[in-house]
Amino acid sequence: MDRRIRGAALACLLLTAGLATGCTTESRADSSSSSAAPDASASSERAGRGEAGARADTKSSTAAAYRKWGLKPLAAPPAPPATKPSRPTAEGGGVPVISEIPTQQEIVFLTFDDGAEKDPKFVTMMRELKIPFTMFLTDAAIRADYGYFKPLQHLGDGVQNHTLTHPNLRTLGASAQKREICGQQTKLKAEYGTTPRLLRPPYGNWNEDTRAAAASCGLEAIVLWRESMQITNMQYQRGDKKLHPGDIILAHFRGPSELKGTTMTEMTANLLRHIQEQGFAVARLEDYL
Ligand SMILES: [Zn+2]
Repeated sequence: MDRRIRGAALACLLLTAGLATGCTTESRADSSSSSAAPDASASSERAGRGEAGARADTKSSTAAAYRKWGLKPLAAPPAPPATKPSRPTAEGGGVPVISEIPTQQEIVFLTFDDGAEKDPKFVTMMRELKIPFTMFLTDAAIRADYGYFKPLQHLGDGVQNHTLTHPNLRTLGASAQKREICGQQTKLKAEYGTTPRLLRPPYGNWNEDTRAAAASCGLEAIVLWRESMQITNMQYQRGDKKLHPGDIILAHFRGPSELKGTTMTEMTANLLRHIQEQGFAVARLEDYL
């Protein structure tokens, strides 16, 4: 769906450019009088200025949006790959477990979990900054207001599975794990109209029953992470404490009560600063997985 939206936008842009050129060519071809020629070339110039102007407007409005949120602009992500990078194949009937995407490009992936905090300013922030992310949602955290996440979904951000009630799946038997995972598939499909493809097990805890349950519920991968965003600092799993190409970053829908007074947008700004300072762009996980 994301790709289709982007494809349509691109088609529109090309169509607009094509129409502008077509108009100019037509008026030139139709005009036999010399007086029409200056008009045609003027209109051609106008069309040229319009396109460049539109590009400049987009660029400057993005820069203004970053300034508004106290940020320097992030590097632009590359175009999504035509073929998704290969990932470990499922063994023994369960889905693969991944923490990063194999790529040489300086990109990372953002994920936000649970769904407890529902800050309208976060929706505004992400709409203005146009940074892609993936939501791993738990029914118990979102059921009071499913609607909050719809504008985020409409921005193209994926809704994925984080179980019904956020249990430590390792403490549950196979059938209880299946209820938690398949149950949330059904809920998310009913609320958001799309079937999740990815599972994030609460606390990152999983076992072979989780892999099997995920596969039987129609999921394609278990997604863990390489970095975890706190309030101002990022926690790195690797000793070099740096982002690496393809890293998946964990953050949460959390607000001041869980962040010692910091808001979700302040936490997100801190997160984006870490990424910007290390020269990485943010890409959409679902485009690569
Ligand atoms: Zn969680």
